Amino acid sequence: MPYESERHVAIESVLKACRLCETVRSHFLSDEAIGKEDGSPVTVADFGAQAVVSRHLAASFPNVPLVGEEDCGLLRRDDNARLRELVVDQVKRITPDQSDHEILESIDRGCGKGGPKGRFWTLDPIDGTKGFLRGDQYAVALALVEEGQVILGVLGCPNLPLDLYEPQGRRGCLFVAAKGEGATMRGLNDAGERRIEVTKIAHPSEARFCESFESSHSSHEHAARIAQILGLNKSPLRMDSQCKYGMVARGDAAIYLRLPTRQSYLETVWDHAAGSIIVQEAGGKVTDMAGKPLDFSLGRRLSNNRGIVVTNGALHDLVLKAVQQVFL
Ligand code: AMP
Ligand code: MG
Repeated sequence: MPYESERHVAIESVLKACRLCETVRSHFLSDEAIGKEDGSPVTVADFGAQAVVSRHLAASFPNVPLVGEEDCGLLRRDDNARLRELVVDQVKRITPDQSDHEILESIDRGCGKGGPKGRFWTLDPIDGTKGFLRGDQYAVALALVEEGQVILGVLGCPNLPLDLYEPQGRRGCLFVAAKGEGATMRGLNDAGERRIEVTKIAHPSEARFCESFESSHSSHEHAARIAQILGLNKSPLRMDSQCKYGMVARGDAAIYLRLPTRQSYLETVWDHAAGSIIVQEAGGKVTDMAGKPLDFSLGRRLSNNRGIVVTNGALHDLVLKAVQQVFL
Protein backbone atom coordinates (compact mmCIF):
# COMPACT_ATOMS: atom_id res chain seq x y z
CA MET A 1 0.00 0.00 0.00
CA PRO A 2 1.43 3.44 -0.90
CA TYR A 3 2.36 5.69 2.02
CA GLU A 4 2.13 2.73 4.39
CA SER A 5 4.78 3.88 6.86
CA GLU A 6 3.55 7.49 6.77
CA ARG A 7 0.03 6.26 7.42
CA HIS A 8 1.12 4.07 10.31
CA VAL A 9 3.17 6.81 11.99
CA ALA A 10 0.45 9.43 11.45
CA ILE A 11 -2.21 7.19 13.01
CA GLU A 12 0.00 6.36 16.01
CA SER A 13 0.76 10.02 16.66
CA VAL A 14 -2.90 11.09 16.38
CA LEU A 15 -3.94 8.30 18.77
CA LYS A 16 -1.35 9.43 21.32
CA ALA A 17 -2.53 13.03 21.02
CA CYS A 18 -6.16 11.95 21.45
CA ARG A 19 -5.18 10.13 24.65
CA LEU A 20 -3.57 13.27 25.99
CA CYS A 21 -6.59 15.40 25.05
CA GLU A 22 -9.06 13.06 26.72
CA THR A 23 -6.97 12.92 29.90
CA VAL A 24 -6.87 16.70 30.05
CA ARG A 25 -10.58 16.92 29.30
CA SER A 26 -11.56 14.51 32.03
CA HIS A 27 -9.26 15.90 34.73
CA PHE A 28 -8.73 19.60 34.73
CA LEU A 29 -10.09 21.48 31.89
CA SER A 30 -12.05 24.60 32.55
CA ASP A 31 -9.50 26.70 34.39
CA GLU A 32 -6.65 26.18 31.94
CA ALA A 33 -7.61 28.05 28.79
CA ILE A 34 -5.72 31.20 27.92
CA GLY A 35 -6.39 33.70 25.14
CA LYS A 36 -4.14 33.97 22.09
CA GLU A 37 -3.46 37.27 20.35
CA ASP A 38 -6.29 36.66 17.87
CA GLY A 39 -8.69 36.15 20.79
CA SER A 40 -9.05 32.39 20.31
CA PRO A 41 -8.54 30.08 23.30
CA VAL A 42 -5.68 27.65 23.74
CA THR A 43 -5.34 24.95 26.42
CA VAL A 44 -2.88 22.51 27.97
CA ALA A 45 -4.15 19.99 25.47
CA ASP A 46 -3.51 22.12 22.36
CA PHE A 47 0.16 22.51 23.29
CA GLY A 48 0.49 18.99 24.64
CA ALA A 49 -1.04 17.36 21.56
CA GLN A 50 1.25 19.34 19.26
CA ALA A 51 4.29 18.29 21.33
CA VAL A 52 3.33 14.61 21.18
CA VAL A 53 2.57 14.53 17.45
CA SER A 54 5.61 16.60 16.53
CA ARG A 55 7.96 14.34 18.47
CA HIS A 56 6.47 11.15 17.06
CA LEU A 57 6.66 12.42 13.47
CA ALA A 58 10.22 13.71 13.90
CA ALA A 59 11.41 10.31 15.11
CA SER A 60 10.44 8.68 11.77
CA PHE A 61 10.59 11.63 9.37
CA PRO A 62 13.17 14.04 10.77
CA ASN A 63 13.47 16.02 7.55
CA VAL A 64 9.80 16.63 6.86
CA PRO A 65 8.76 20.02 8.29
CA LEU A 66 5.63 20.50 10.37
CA VAL A 67 3.11 23.28 9.79
CA GLY A 68 1.28 23.31 13.12
CA GLU A 69 -1.15 25.73 14.65
CA GLU A 70 0.68 26.35 17.93
CA ASP A 71 4.02 27.74 19.02
CA CYS A 72 5.56 28.30 22.43
CA GLY A 73 5.64 32.10 22.48
CA LEU A 74 2.88 32.27 25.08
CA LEU A 75 4.06 29.22 26.96
CA ARG A 76 7.57 30.56 27.55
CA ARG A 77 6.26 33.70 29.26
CA ASP A 78 6.79 33.90 33.04
CA ASP A 79 3.12 34.57 33.72
CA ASN A 80 2.23 31.26 32.02
CA ALA A 81 4.62 29.16 34.13
CA ARG A 82 1.79 27.08 35.60
CA LEU A 83 0.35 26.28 32.20
CA ARG A 84 3.86 25.35 31.00
CA GLU A 85 4.29 22.95 33.92
CA LEU A 86 0.94 21.32 33.18
CA VAL A 87 1.82 20.88 29.51
CA VAL A 88 5.18 19.32 30.32
CA ASP A 89 3.59 17.06 32.90
CA GLN A 90 0.89 15.81 30.50
CA VAL A 91 3.34 15.22 27.66
CA LYS A 92 5.68 13.24 29.94
CA ARG A 93 2.81 10.91 30.77
CA ILE A 94 2.64 9.96 27.09
CA THR A 95 6.36 10.18 26.23
CA PRO A 96 8.38 10.14 29.49
CA ASP A 97 11.90 10.25 28.05
CA GLN A 98 12.06 13.99 27.31
CA SER A 99 13.35 17.09 29.02
CA ASP A 100 11.16 20.18 29.47
CA HIS A 101 13.33 21.94 26.92
CA GLU A 102 12.82 19.18 24.34
CA ILE A 103 9.06 19.35 24.82
CA LEU A 104 8.98 23.08 24.11
CA GLU A 105 11.27 22.55 21.12
CA SER A 106 8.89 19.91 19.76
CA ILE A 107 6.02 22.38 19.91
CA ASP A 108 8.09 25.06 18.18
CA ARG A 109 9.00 22.61 15.39
CA GLY A 110 5.47 23.32 14.13
CA CYS A 111 6.60 26.63 12.65
CA GLY A 112 7.00 25.19 9.12
CA LYS A 113 6.09 27.56 6.33
CA GLY A 114 4.51 25.06 3.94
CA GLY A 115 4.57 25.98 0.25
CA PRO A 116 4.57 24.28 -3.15
CA LYS A 117 7.74 22.16 -2.97
CA GLY A 118 8.44 18.82 -1.32
CA ARG A 119 6.58 17.45 1.65
CA PHE A 120 5.23 18.89 4.88
CA TRP A 121 2.99 17.65 7.64
CA THR A 122 0.22 19.94 8.81
CA LEU A 123 -1.38 19.64 12.22
CA ASP A 124 -4.23 21.16 14.13
CA PRO A 125 -3.52 19.64 17.56
CA ILE A 126 -7.02 20.51 18.72
CA ASP A 127 -9.31 21.67 16.01
CA GLY A 128 -12.41 23.14 17.63
CA THR A 129 -10.85 24.25 20.91
CA LYS A 130 -14.11 26.00 21.77
CA GLY A 131 -15.96 22.70 21.34
CA PHE A 132 -13.33 20.95 23.45
CA LEU A 133 -13.86 23.47 26.26
CA ARG A 134 -17.64 23.09 26.03
CA GLY A 135 -17.40 19.30 26.19
CA ASP A 136 -18.63 19.03 22.58
CA GLN A 137 -16.79 18.00 19.43
CA TYR A 138 -13.14 18.52 18.60
CA ALA A 139 -10.56 16.76 16.44
CA VAL A 140 -6.84 16.10 16.23
CA ALA A 141 -6.20 16.73 12.54
CA LEU A 142 -3.00 15.64 10.78
CA ALA A 143 -2.24 15.59 7.06
CA LEU A 144 0.72 15.10 4.76
CA VAL A 145 1.06 17.46 1.80
CA GLU A 146 3.37 16.71 -1.15
CA GLU A 147 4.01 19.18 -3.98
CA GLY A 148 0.99 21.16 -2.83
CA GLN A 149 -1.38 18.15 -2.83
CA VAL A 150 -2.78 16.48 0.28
CA ILE A 151 -1.80 12.81 0.09
CA LEU A 152 -2.74 11.55 3.54
CA GLY A 153 -5.21 12.66 6.20
CA VAL A 154 -5.92 11.38 9.70
CA LEU A 155 -8.67 12.79 11.92
CA GLY A 156 -9.03 11.68 15.52
CA CYS A 157 -12.43 12.64 16.94
CA PRO A 158 -12.48 11.40 20.56
CA ASN A 159 -15.97 12.62 21.44
CA LEU A 160 -17.79 11.81 18.20
CA PRO A 161 -20.43 9.05 18.46
CA LEU A 162 -19.69 6.09 16.20
CA ASP A 163 -23.36 6.25 15.33
CA LEU A 164 -24.75 9.78 15.25
CA TYR A 165 -28.22 8.47 15.95
CA GLU A 166 -27.08 6.70 19.10
CA PRO A 167 -25.57 9.56 21.08
CA GLN A 168 -25.54 7.41 24.23
CA GLY A 169 -23.56 4.72 22.41
CA ARG A 170 -19.80 4.45 21.95
CA ARG A 171 -17.78 7.53 21.18
CA GLY A 172 -14.41 8.13 19.56
CA CYS A 173 -13.80 7.85 15.80
CA LEU A 174 -10.68 7.74 13.67
CA PHE A 175 -10.98 8.72 10.00
CA VAL A 176 -8.10 7.93 7.63
CA ALA A 177 -7.62 8.54 3.90
CA ALA A 178 -4.66 8.25 1.55
CA LYS A 179 -4.68 9.51 -2.03
CA GLY A 180 -6.29 6.97 -4.35
CA GLU A 181 -6.92 4.51 -1.51
CA GLY A 182 -10.42 5.49 -0.32
CA ALA A 183 -11.45 6.56 3.16
CA THR A 184 -11.98 4.50 6.30
CA MET A 185 -13.36 4.91 9.79
CA ARG A 186 -12.86 2.90 12.95
CA GLY A 187 -13.51 3.27 16.65
CA LEU A 188 -10.58 5.17 18.15
CA ASN A 189 -9.44 2.14 20.13
CA ASP A 190 -10.52 -0.57 17.71
CA ALA A 191 -8.30 -2.60 15.43
CA GLY A 192 -10.66 -3.09 12.48
CA GLU A 193 -11.59 -0.28 10.12
CA ARG A 194 -14.41 -0.01 7.59
CA ARG A 195 -14.63 1.85 4.34
CA ILE A 196 -16.85 4.91 4.33
CA GLU A 197 -18.67 6.63 1.50
CA VAL A 198 -20.65 9.81 1.07
CA THR A 199 -24.42 9.61 0.82
CA LYS A 200 -25.79 9.08 -2.68
CA ILE A 201 -28.77 11.38 -2.35
CA ALA A 202 -29.24 13.59 -5.38
CA HIS A 203 -32.07 15.83 -4.26
CA PRO A 204 -31.43 18.67 -1.79
CA SER A 205 -34.77 18.23 -0.01
CA GLU A 206 -33.37 15.03 1.53
CA ALA A 207 -30.02 16.57 2.41
CA ARG A 208 -28.77 17.49 5.83
CA PHE A 209 -26.11 20.18 6.01
CA CYS A 210 -23.59 20.93 8.72
CA GLU A 211 -21.92 24.13 9.78
CA SER A 212 -19.81 25.50 12.64
CA PHE A 213 -21.35 25.66 16.07
CA GLU A 214 -19.72 29.10 16.39
CA SER A 215 -21.51 31.69 14.26
CA SER A 216 -18.32 33.78 14.28
CA HIS A 217 -16.57 31.04 12.27
CA SER A 218 -19.24 30.57 9.61
CA SER A 219 -22.25 32.72 8.85
CA HIS A 220 -25.39 30.93 10.03
CA GLU A 221 -27.50 33.66 8.51
CA HIS A 222 -26.15 33.19 4.99
CA ALA A 223 -26.37 29.42 5.37
CA ALA A 224 -30.05 29.69 6.28
CA ARG A 225 -30.69 31.65 3.07
CA ILE A 226 -28.81 29.07 1.01
CA ALA A 227 -30.76 26.28 2.71
CA GLN A 228 -33.99 28.02 1.79
CA ILE A 229 -32.98 28.43 -1.86
CA LEU A 230 -32.05 24.75 -2.03
CA GLY A 231 -35.23 23.67 -0.26
CA LEU A 232 -33.34 21.85 2.52
CA ASN A 233 -35.94 20.60 4.99
CA LYS A 234 -33.72 19.33 7.76
CA SER A 235 -32.29 21.56 10.48
CA PRO A 236 -28.54 22.18 10.30
CA LEU A 237 -26.15 19.95 12.19
CA ARG A 238 -24.02 22.41 14.16
CA MET A 239 -20.74 20.94 15.21
CA ASP A 240 -17.22 22.15 16.00
CA SER A 241 -14.07 21.09 14.17
CA GLN A 242 -13.28 18.90 11.17
CA CYS A 243 -15.68 16.33 12.57
CA LYS A 244 -17.97 18.00 10.01
CA TYR A 245 -15.82 16.58 7.20
CA GLY A 246 -16.20 13.20 8.89
CA MET A 247 -19.99 13.65 8.90
CA VAL A 248 -20.04 14.20 5.14
CA ALA A 249 -17.50 11.43 4.47
CA ARG A 250 -19.55 8.80 6.29
CA GLY A 251 -22.87 9.99 4.89
CA ASP A 252 -24.46 11.51 8.00
CA ALA A 253 -24.62 14.86 6.20
CA ALA A 254 -24.56 15.63 2.49
CA ILE A 255 -23.27 19.21 2.74
CA TYR A 256 -20.86 21.22 4.90
CA LEU A 257 -20.87 24.98 4.42
CA ARG A 258 -18.22 27.34 5.79
CA LEU A 259 -19.24 30.86 4.89
CA PRO A 260 -17.03 33.87 5.67
CA THR A 261 -18.15 36.15 8.46
CA ARG A 262 -15.64 38.80 7.45
CA GLN A 263 -13.92 39.70 4.22
CA SER A 264 -10.34 39.50 5.48
CA TYR A 265 -10.38 36.00 7.05
CA LEU A 266 -8.11 33.47 5.35
CA GLU A 267 -8.61 29.80 6.21
CA THR A 268 -5.57 27.86 7.49
CA VAL A 269 -4.13 24.73 5.87
CA TRP A 270 -4.41 22.68 9.10
CA ASP A 271 -8.14 23.41 9.35
CA HIS A 272 -8.86 21.68 6.02
CA ALA A 273 -6.06 19.41 4.79
CA ALA A 274 -7.03 16.22 6.66
CA GLY A 275 -10.78 16.73 6.36
CA SER A 276 -10.73 17.50 2.66
CA ILE A 277 -8.88 14.35 1.58
CA ILE A 278 -11.14 12.21 3.77
CA VAL A 279 -14.25 13.59 2.04
CA GLN A 280 -12.72 13.35 -1.44
CA GLU A 281 -11.59 9.78 -0.91
CA ALA A 282 -15.09 8.94 0.33
CA GLY A 283 -16.45 10.17 -3.01
CA GLY A 284 -17.31 13.75 -2.11
CA LYS A 285 -16.19 17.12 -3.41
CA VAL A 286 -14.47 20.07 -1.69
CA THR A 287 -14.06 23.54 -3.19
CA ASP A 288 -14.24 27.16 -2.14
CA MET A 289 -17.33 29.29 -2.77
CA ALA A 290 -16.22 30.06 -6.32
CA GLY A 291 -15.88 26.34 -7.08
CA LYS A 292 -12.06 26.40 -7.04
CA PRO A 293 -10.13 23.51 -5.46
CA LEU A 294 -8.43 24.34 -2.16
CA ASP A 295 -4.82 25.39 -2.81
CA PHE A 296 -2.52 23.99 -0.13
CA SER A 297 0.65 25.20 -1.86
CA LEU A 298 0.62 28.80 -0.71
CA GLY A 299 2.03 28.60 2.81
CA ARG A 300 0.17 28.45 6.11
CA ARG A 301 -3.05 29.93 4.76
CA LEU A 302 -5.42 29.13 1.89
CA SER A 303 -4.83 32.61 0.54
CA ASN A 304 -6.36 31.88 -2.83
CA ASN A 305 -9.68 30.52 -1.52
CA ARG A 306 -12.69 32.08 0.12
CA GLY A 307 -15.28 30.10 2.06
CA ILE A 308 -15.52 26.31 1.86
CA VAL A 309 -18.19 24.17 0.20
CA VAL A 310 -18.18 20.44 0.85
CA THR A 311 -20.74 18.03 -0.61
CA ASN A 312 -21.36 14.43 -1.55
CA GLY A 313 -20.45 15.41 -5.13
CA ALA A 314 -23.89 14.87 -6.64
CA LEU A 315 -25.19 18.07 -5.03
CA HIS A 316 -22.08 20.19 -5.58
CA ASP A 317 -23.11 22.27 -8.58
CA LEU A 318 -26.54 22.98 -7.15
CA VAL A 319 -25.09 24.03 -3.81
CA LEU A 320 -22.43 26.23 -5.43
CA LYS A 321 -25.10 27.97 -7.48
CA ALA A 322 -27.13 28.75 -4.35
CA VAL A 323 -24.02 29.91 -2.47
CA GLN A 324 -23.09 32.22 -5.32
CA GLN A 325 -26.63 33.58 -5.50
CA VAL A 326 -26.33 34.67 -1.87
CA PHE A 327 -22.69 35.80 -1.87
CA LEU A 328 -21.62 37.14 -5.25
P1 AMP B 1 -15.07 25.19 13.61
O1 AMP B 1 -14.98 24.37 14.83
O2 AMP B 1 -15.43 24.45 12.37
O3 AMP B 1 -15.92 26.40 13.82
O4 AMP B 1 -13.61 25.67 13.28
C1 AMP B 1 -12.66 25.92 14.22
C2 AMP B 1 -11.57 26.69 13.52
O5 AMP B 1 -12.08 27.92 13.08
C3 AMP B 1 -10.40 27.06 14.39
O6 AMP B 1 -9.40 26.08 14.27
C4 AMP B 1 -9.93 28.38 13.83
O7 AMP B 1 -8.71 28.22 13.15
C5 AMP B 1 -10.98 28.75 12.82
N1 AMP B 1 -11.44 30.15 12.88
C6 AMP B 1 -11.19 31.10 13.78
N2 AMP B 1 -11.78 32.28 13.43
C7 AMP B 1 -12.43 32.06 12.27
C8 AMP B 1 -13.22 32.88 11.39
N3 AMP B 1 -13.46 34.15 11.66
N4 AMP B 1 -13.72 32.29 10.29
C9 AMP B 1 -13.48 31.00 10.01
N5 AMP B 1 -12.76 30.18 10.80
C10 AMP B 1 -12.22 30.69 11.91
MG1 MG C 1 -8.57 24.54 13.95
